[in-house]
Amino acid sequence: MAVHYKDLGLVNTKVMFQKAVAGGFAVPAYNFNNLEQLQAVILGCVESDSPVILQISKGARSYANQTMLRYMAVGAVEMMKEMGGNIPIAVHLDHGDSYELCVDCIHNGFSSVMIDGSHLPYEENIALTRRVVEYAHEFDVSVEGELGVLAGIEEEVSAERSTYTRPQEVVDFTKRTGVDSLAISIGTSHGAFKFKVKPGQAPPPLRFDILEEVERRLPGFPIVLHGASSVVPEYVEMINRYGGHMEGAVGVSEEQLRRAAHSAVCKINIDSDCRLVITAVVRKVLTEKPGEFDPRKYLGPARDELTKLIKYKNEVVLGSAGHGREIMAAINS
Ligand SMILES: [Zn+2]
Repeated sequence: MAVHYKDLGLVNTKVMFQKAVAGGFAVPAYNFNNLEQLQAVILGCVESDSPVILQISKGARSYANQTMLRYMAVGAVEMMKEMGGNIPIAVHLDHGDSYELCVDCIHNGFSSVMIDGSHLPYEENIALTRRVVEYAHEFDVSVEGELGVLAGIEEEVSAERSTYTRPQEVVDFTKRTGVDSLAISIGTSHGAFKFKVKPGQAPPPLRFDILEEVERRLPGFPIVLHGASSVVPEYVEMINRYGGHMEGAVGVSEEQLRRAAHSAVCKINIDSDCRLVITAVVRKVLTEKPGEFDPRKYLGPARDELTKLIKYKNEVVLGSAGHGREIMAAINS
């Protein structure tokens, strides 16, 4: 055992999810792969007193180096304390695609892992997920499984068409695997182009009927939504205004995310929105100041804008703001 998450000051997702299910909010899971993203997530979550799941994908691991990421997570915890914050921070593997990768992350201080066997035949998904759960639980690490396939591209994950989660499978799957949370497919998708819609047309609504049926069969069980960025129109417009081409980018409406957060959904993954903010601000600064060559002068403003967005998401969309200290108190009691 190289390092255990508790020695890094991290927590698993257990109490976060209990409180989220009971309190009608969702814990934000923000992906990061560089310094400025991580700073913004910590600043935004401390300032809004929100629990947070720092998500690291397989792609982020190869981009930033896993040892570097571990020390960044330690730095995040220390920065949070220095700021006078007292929020629970989990570090989670997003879309783990093998038993070996999950084990490696558990050995590297992750407090939660996702094993995504959703593309496999049902029985194989169960067998793989169960194997990861058995190992992870020895170290008190949380495990997220997935049933149903999301459309779209997210680094290593790519699917042409979505397959909705079949509610009749969820009880059997969660019982036989022992997972702590379940990602389901109800019409969200990965990336910034979630739906093909004509200008001015609203994207199709999420399948709340499936979510309700899952909730009926698994009362109180933590449900996870992937591909849940709003693809904030303000930032898409800014990207296009400053030389980008992201016409037709569209996401899930905030109203639907709020509705999901009030239900059994207790973890909402947000990645594309954070990428959009950074790109929009960097484009704006470099267009307005073509002579600028100090990365701090364009990454700094991007970080500040991302901090604002994260606070807004926690306060207005997910409802996680104001629950950080309360969850820490419950964990320490
Ligand atoms: Zn995902």
